Parts: sequence; structure tokens; C-alpha cells
Amino acid sequence: MTAAGARADAMTLLADLSDAPREGVWSAPGRVNLIGEHTDYNEGFVLPFAIPHRTVAAAARRDDDRIRVASTFAPEPVEVALAELDELFPTATGASPRVPEWAAYPLGVAWALRQAGARGSGVDLAIASDVPVGAGLSSSAAIESATASALNDLWGAGLDRTALARIGRRAENEAVGAPTGIMDQMASMLGETDAAIFLDCRSLEAEAVAVGVIDAGLEVLVIDTHVSHAHSTGGYRERRASCEKGAELLGVLSLRDVDTADLARAERVMDDVTFRRVRHIVTENQRVLDTVRTLREHGPRAIGDLLVASHASMRDDFEISVPELDTAVESALAAGALGARMTGGGFGGAAIALIERDAEQAVTDAVRAAFAASGYAEPTVFTVVPSAGAQRDD
Ligand code: ADP
Ligand code: MG
Repeated sequence: MTAAGARADAMTLLADLSDAPREGVWSAPGRVNLIGEHTDYNEGFVLPFAIPHRTVAAAARRDDDRIRVASTFAPEPVEVALAELDELFPTATGASPRVPEWAAYPLGVAWALRQAGARGSGVDLAIASDVPVGAGLSSSAAIESATASALNDLWGAGLDRTALARIGRRAENEAVGAPTGIMDQMASMLGETDAAIFLDCRSLEAEAVAVGVIDAGLEVLVIDTHVSHAHSTGGYRERRASCEKGAELLGVLSLRDVDTADLARAERVMDDVTFRRVRHIVTENQRVLDTVRTLREHGPRAIGDLLVASHASMRDDFEISVPELDTAVESALAAGALGARMTGGGFGGAAIALIERDAEQAVTDAVRAAFAASGYAEPTVFTVVPSAGAQRDD
């Protein structure tokens, strides 16, 4: 499947759903995070980029005040009155929504837009996607950003990209009940061709930084381990709690306010596990800053060691890697990758490897062979380039 295939599927699904004329088609990408993991909810720095894989939302207006969402991933469309959204959401933390979970993403976006004051008539939304789901490539932000872009235009809400990213996060946090940061939505909303988004998660200031992989003859390989991170909510919450505890023990608002020089003191005032969680966040923030500087001064070929150090920190200090991700990283590096790390929230999902374009086959073969030798399920391996963010397509 390709983004063009998803577009065709969304239009077909809409035609099945509604006799009304198509009002428009919007799409938004998934993302990989080049570096900066779990730093977003610590008000730190991240450097994600949007990928070519997209979620597409095709829309038709209705002449009542109801919203209906359908996805090629789900058997049944879900329909509610717009005013009913306010009773459906927010869900109490951990409670399952009174709609199928997938529908809480687009309906949660409609709810969050209404909470922000947007009003508009009823709408049918048909959704299709070629973003791998649950692979750590943020199919969730893609569906949120595509829906938010569509409804923003259809309802004339006039929100800018950053505001729409916040709407998507609010939907995910409060309607779905997943305690995620703002990185994914910002990457999906703000992505640019051949650039990564350097995001300060405290101020939400974002800057496009040229990655230059194409000019340098490099590629980013994505290795989807197919280890599902669906049950990782517990681990994610635990890591967040450790970070909050660490910040409190250091007397700061968030770990953003701690730097590497403070680590010696941190080690004295907290238990070993909390300290290692804190050390990951503090050093990871520094690695993001170093990566941005290195990209600007020396280009993408020079960032490999930073990616490798990031992976080691996630594996040893933050403890969010799994053996399949470690195998992906180690086998890619052994086959000549310039750098590699797991990407996304961890506990499964995907790893990325920065490789020479002409090494794609060799690295792919090496990773597959290593997975087979370990008895792991066959990974899906593909390349990505930094791509455009959310947009209206039609
Ligand atoms: P990731 O963002 O890494 O892909 P998440 O668990 O955060 O994984 O989000 C995946 C969930 O988002 C899916 O289980 C589903 O509920 C929802 N979702 C994503 N894309 C779609 C889609 N095209 N159609 C319906 N639901 C989707
Ligand atoms: Mg997600």
C-alpha cells in the first residue's frame, strides 16, 4: 500500500458511506523520531521527521448535526450527534471509551475542536491509511492530524498548525486516554520535505532543520519488529511517573531544567532506578541539541554516534527497548549502518538505521538474517525520507 492507494481507498469508502458530493480530501503523515525519546513530556527537545506514509480523510457534509466516521481498518462506521460528543469525552483515565477505541481518535478530535469553540454542521469522514499501525510510526497522530485538518477547514475554525497539533494531543490524552506528549502531532502537522522538526516542547517553538540525507547519498531504514507496543501504557505511565519524581526530588518543574552538570547531585538524592531514568532524559536532551548542531555543521553523515548513544541510553538507563529492537540496531550497525536506534515510545515498534543508499540491500539482509537466527518474527524493512506534513489534497 502507498499513500496514493490510501487516498483512493478513502474516496471509495466515502462514496459507499454518503451520497452527498465529496467536500474535500485531507491527509497527514506518520513520523519517525530521529532523536529525542521521552523528552517531550519532560518539556525538552525532540527531532522527528514526517514520513511518506499518510492517513487520508475524505469528507462529505451532512444536512443534520451528526458526525460519522468510517475507517478501512474497522468493520462498522460509528455515528454520534455532535452535541453528544461532550458526554462521551473525556473518559476517566483508563476507562474504555463508549465508542470503539479507534473511533475515539477522530471523534476525540471533533470533541476537542468543539471544546476550543469550533462549531459546524454534520459531517461524514472516511479514513484510510498506509501508516503501519502500532509500529511506533504514529498512525495515531496521522489520524488525528488528518481529521483535525479536515474539520478545521470544514468548520472554518481557522486554527494554525500548532493549535491543531494541540487539538490532536488533547484527543489522544483525554478522549482515547493515552498519556502521550506533543511530539507526534507536531511532526505530523509541521513536517517538511528533507527536513526534521526541531521542537522545543516547552515553548512549542519549532524549526525545520535540513537533514540532507538525500544529497549525502544516505537513507533512513525503518525496521518494524512487529512487537506490539499496544500493552505498553503501563510502562509508559511508569516512566512518566519516574521523571516527575526525579524532577520533584531535584526541586525543578520538569527535567528540562536539569543539565548534565547536575547529574552528580541527582545521583546522590535519588534511588538508582529514578536516577537512571533522569540520566536518560538529561543526556537525551543534550544529544538532540548536539544532533541539530552536528547536522548544521557537518551534515547527516556525522550524527551516527549520537543515534547509537541514544539507543544505549534507552536500553540501559530508561529500559524501554526489547531484544528485537536491540537485535535490529546491533545487526544494522554490524552491517555498516552509520547509526541506529529504536524510535518511538519503546517496548516494541520500530528501529531506524542511517545507511549509505547503496548498502540498503546488505543491511536489510543482515537484519533479516539476525532475526531469523534469533527465532524472531520476520521484520518489515523499508526506507523513508523526510516528507511534507498535513495538507489538503483535494
Ligand atoms: P502508533 O501511533 O504507534 O501507530 P498507537 O497505539 O498510538 O500506535 O495508535 C494506534 C491506534 O490508532 C490504532 O489501534 C487505532 O485505534 C488508531 N488508528 C490509527 N490509524 C487508524 C486508521 N487508519 N483507522 C482507524 N484507526 C486508526
Ligand atoms: Mg501513537
